Amino acid sequence: VGEFELIKRFFSPERYAADVCLGVGDDAAVVIVPSGQRLVAAVDTLVSGVHFPDNTPAADIGWRALAVNLSDMAAMGATPRWFTLSLCMPVADERWLAEFANGLRAAAEPFDVQLIGGDTVKGPLNISVQILGLVEADGWLTRAGAHPGDVLFVSGAPGEAAGGLRVMQESLHGGTSDAKHLLQRFLRPEPRVMLGRALRNVATAAMDVSDGLLVDLSKLSAASGCGAQLFLDTLPQSPALHRVFGAKMSEQLMLNGGDDYELLFTAPAESAAQVAELASQVGVTCSRIGVMDASGRVQCLRNGKPVAMDVRGYDHFS
Ligand code: ADP
Ligand code: MG
Repeated sequence: VGEFELIKRFFSPERYAADVCLGVGDDAAVVIVPSGQRLVAAVDTLVSGVHFPDNTPAADIGWRALAVNLSDMAAMGATPRWFTLSLCMPVADERWLAEFANGLRAAAEPFDVQLIGGDTVKGPLNISVQILGLVEADGWLTRAGAHPGDVLFVSGAPGEAAGGLRVMQESLHGGTSDAKHLLQRFLRPEPRVMLGRALRNVATAAMDVSDGLLVDLSKLSAASGCGAQLFLDTLPQSPALHRVFGAKMSEQLMLNGGDDYELLFTAPAESAAQVAELASQVGVTCSRIGVMDASGRVQCLRNGKPVAMDVRGYDHFS
């Protein structure tokens, strides 16, 4: 298939919502930003062999490319509305493209987020999605608003995605349901968009966990100009992770594994009950895992005693 045909067949939505004036097909897209709202923009690129193993199924690559961007909207408390797709691939394989587009659509549908443009070029496989969303003009979430004394929360079970990546890379426990569960957590992260929206007026700071819990917590703490104490005994445990990797390795994966796309956030202690209520309304488990302090660093504690932990999050250039 040629470039034009390919864009038409795989990446041209049949219809758009009323907030898209001009979608795929022109030199650029035009959308409506309602008054009283702000445009929120983010971009994330996935490179084959770096962000996912070369043998990752096309549908999962499509899902993931969008999901990691939706997760950025979640972390801002924003509603995702539109996205553009820059697709660089070595060949135009119709089957691959059909599956990729299916995965992309599957991730887009639950949030009603619309593909409004992109670019299609030849080269080593990499996928870049830019996402655009809306947030009320009177407030969005940032990493920078935490205060000493705020309670620290994380959604879901961090570590599972990193476990899934290992399962995939090392062909571990191939058929078991635990291995499948972990693999799914890596390949199909669930962006916490509803949770982010719900937290908009409660959380003091938020970010999504992409590089690893400890390293991302350091970023949140630094942005907020405070420190944090992380209570290792309260980390949400994944039974599947435990069964496949054992206690010690599971803890490493929880603290330093990336790719979870869970939300890490803070709220005043007196709002903890409200956080629990909101989390249950959106159907996402949120665990209290620590407290912010004024120390300027991240300290892990076990049974109330400080323990030294390696911080080894993902960094492309170190
Ligand atoms: P231009 O002539 O401006 O370079 P292109 O030929 O690259 O435009 O693209 C034609 C139209 O198709 C544009 O509207 C562009 O946004 C859209 N498009 C190109 N590639 C993709 C893609 N992978 N997904 C969605 N839309 C795309
Ligand atoms: Mg043009």
